[in-house]
Amino acid sequence: MAREKTLIIGNWKMNLNVHDASLYLNRLDKLVKIHRNVEVVIAPTMLALQTLSLQVNLRQIKLAAQNFYWRDHGAYTGEVSANQLRGLVQYDLVGHSERRHVFNESDKDTRAKVQAAIRNGIRPILCVGETAGERAGNETKDVLYDQLIGGLANITSEELDQVVIAYEPVWAIGTGQNAVPADVTYAIRSIREQIRHLYGAKAAETAQVLYGGSVTADSASGYLSLPDVDGLLIGGASLDEHAFSNIIEKAHVAKK
Ligand code: PEP
Repeated sequence: MAREKTLIIGNWKMNLNVHDASLYLNRLDKLVKIHRNVEVVIAPTMLALQTLSLQVNLRQIKLAAQNFYWRDHGAYTGEVSANQLRGLVQYDLVGHSERRHVFNESDKDTRAKVQAAIRNGIRPILCVGETAGERAGNETKDVLYDQLIGGLANITSEELDQVVIAYEPVWAIGTGQNAVPADVTYAIRSIREQIRHLYGAKAAETAQVLYGGSVTADSASGYLSLPDVDGLLIGGASLDEHAFSNIIEKAHVAKK
C-alpha cells in the first residue's frame, strides 16, 4: 500500500436531496468509528455541500464535489467553480465516466479541472477506465495511458502528491459486473507504470490509486486485499449507510 490511510469514497451521484443527505450523514455519523488508517469521503449532491459542511465532523468524514467548472469565476451561467467550493470540500471528482460518456468531457476538460482543484487547495480524484469495447479490443493499457497523460499534463511531482487516481472500468460501473482481481491488478500496475514514466519510481510507488465499479460490502475485502489498491470508490452501495459503514470497517481491518 502506498499510503498510511485507505481511502473509502462514496459517490451518491444524483441521489438524495438536501434533507435526505443530512439525515444520512446523521446516521452514518453514528455507525462510523474514526479509524486512523481509513479516510472516509462522501460526494453528495452539490446542493447539500453547504449544509453538510456545517454538520460534518471532518475528523471522521470528508466531503467531495462530484463536479465543477475549471475556471475560478466569470460569466459561466449555471456553473460552480473549485474556487467557490473552497472551504466546503476537501476532494473533487474529476473525469468520472458519467462525465466523460454522458456529458462528453474530454481529457482537455479533465486536465483543466485537475489543475483548478489543485490551484484551490482541493484534492482531485482523477477517474480513468476503459469501456467494454476498448477492453475487448485489448486497449485497456492505451486508454489508461491516454487518460493519465491527458489529465496530468502540467502537474508537477509535488502536485501529483495531491492527486488521487481512481481506476473505474466503465463496464463495471453501476452494472453489477465485477472486475476480477487479476484485471484490477493489471490495470493499476499499468497506471503505476505510466506514473513511473512521467514522474519516476518513487511517485509510482506512493501514488494513491483506488478501484471502483460495483463494489459491495461483500466484494470490498477482496479488492482491499490487493497490494496495489489504496482504497475504493463506491457508487450504489454508498447509498445504504449500513453497507457503506460495513465497507469502512473492512478497510480498517484489511490494512491495519
Ligand atoms: C461510481 O459511481 O464511481 C461507481 C463505482 O458506481 P458503482 O459502485 O455503483 O458501480
